[in-house]
Amino acid sequence: MKYTITTVSPEETEAFAMNIGQRLQGGEVIELIADLGGGKTTFTRGLARGAGSSDAVSSPTFTVSKVYETPKFEIHHFDFYRLNDPGLNAHELEDLVGDPSAVVVVEWADGAQHVLPENRLAIRLSAVDDSVREIHLEYESSLAYLLANKI
Ligand code: ADP
Ligand code: MG
Repeated sequence: MKYTITTVSPEETEAFAMNIGQRLQGGEVIELIADLGGGKTTFTRGLARGAGSSDAVSSPTFTVSKVYETPKFEIHHFDFYRLNDPGLNAHELEDLVGDPSAVVVVEWADGAQHVLPENRLAIRLSAVDDSVREIHLEYESSLAYLLANKI
């Protein structure tokens, strides 16, 4: 299934992501695809807020992964940007896939494709200009509840 939305500010991207964050149940895997500055971390911040986390969300580029607490599950936020050998962290990611108490969010997952499940929400953000982003979502019907009010 596919869904596309255009946002005109970071706040709007965050608000859209919050909606999805509110619907997360635990166990979901979300892949974020965009160029640098595309809005992957901004989207993740909205997701975490929507899921009820007040933890600070920032790009985990130098730590590879961060964990945000929510009342229902932990959000594990990975960023494989410029990681020459994602192997070790891909293994950590693999262990979390299917864990109902974890939601996995991955930026720059190119080096970890082999551990990402088919059943994931893939989100592509592309910059139309400084403040406009086209957001394309692709997912299997089993994840349609994440966009229940949209379709
Ligand atoms: P990434 O993680 O993909 O590198 P970030 O979320 O860290 O991207 O940065 C996105 C940048 O783009 C931020 O500075 C944000 O304020 C800006 N921005 C401008 N318009 C938007 C929009 N519509 N949606 C998301 N971010 C936007
Ligand atoms: Mg980022």
